[in-house]
Amino acid sequence: MIYSFDREDAAHEVFVSILKERGLDYEEIRRDRVVVRIFGEIDEPLRQRLERVSGRSGKLTLKKKSEDADTVGLERPRDKFLIAGPCSVESEEQIDRIAAFLSHLGVKYLRGGAFKPRTSSQSFQGIGRVGLKIMAAAASRHGMKVVTELMDRSQLDDILPYVDIIQVGSRNMFNYPLLTTLGAVDKPVLLKRGMAATIDEWAAATDYILKGGNEKVILCERGIRTFEPRTRFTLDILAIPLAQKLTGLPVVADVSHAAGERSLVPPLMRAALAAGADGIMVEVHPEPELALSDGIQSLSFAVFETVFKELKAAKLL
Ligand code: PEP
Ligand code: MN
Repeated sequence: MIYSFDREDAAHEVFVSILKERGLDYEEIRRDRVVVRIFGEIDEPLRQRLERVSGRSGKLTLKKKSEDADTVGLERPRDKFLIAGPCSVESEEQIDRIAAFLSHLGVKYLRGGAFKPRTSSQSFQGIGRVGLKIMAAAASRHGMKVVTELMDRSQLDDILPYVDIIQVGSRNMFNYPLLTTLGAVDKPVLLKRGMAATIDEWAAATDYILKGGNEKVILCERGIRTFEPRTRFTLDILAIPLAQKLTGLPVVADVSHAAGERSLVPPLMRAALAAGADGIMVEVHPEPELALSDGIQSLSFAVFETVFKELKAAKLL
């Protein structure tokens, strides 16, 4: 069970003393809020006591939307999230060129990984902390916001000064300690769907963040594993309206990692937006064939600009 307290809330001391008195183990995360995750059995009287002390019972729960189709479209952000940029931050010159190009088109969110979750331990792992710095500098020069992945909670202090939206990657959707930590942080979290996670598991994972008091969660459908080997993943289009309905949260689609191949990216951009996605994430690189990761699925500037203008004209963006 997860409980959340404001940092100044004295009830927190009482709460923890009850856990100690009962011999229960717990973990306390002190960030913008204090989040307590309790280990061990909690019987009903104790649960009620803890809820009374925390004063939070029933307040911080995932808003379950009715299954009524009419609810889709409520509470959607007015502006679509368009998150674009390279798979990995590679150099100052690369990220600056990309930020200049995207901001010129009016794209607000710059993506780029500094710590990369790579399948092979021998592949490029990202350029690390220096990547965060040069990306944040490029974003600020061009009036953009930074979206980058946090792979492990040990890197939170490294990332926080440079990030506007914290990405949790597909491989980490089930990393509950990481999600619990992000509940204590006052920054939006982009939670990607695990590549083999059901929609309910994905929705349940959001609760680890929401219960900590961080309600700024954006979901990201990025394709799931199916029997089809010709595409990298299968973008689950229906997961977009379904997750919106189940959670009431914005849902964006990462079209690049689903497609795995750049010619398939524009049709997926159209499809995801037509299905009502609250935004899209797409990989863009000035020289896709030279990219250090995911070049095959990255759009060139010219193609990105063409499809961007087409989507604007179609009022999908
Ligand atoms: C990424 O967006 O850089 C990434 C690694 O995506 P995913 O976690 O969806 O594989
Ligand atoms: Mn990538």
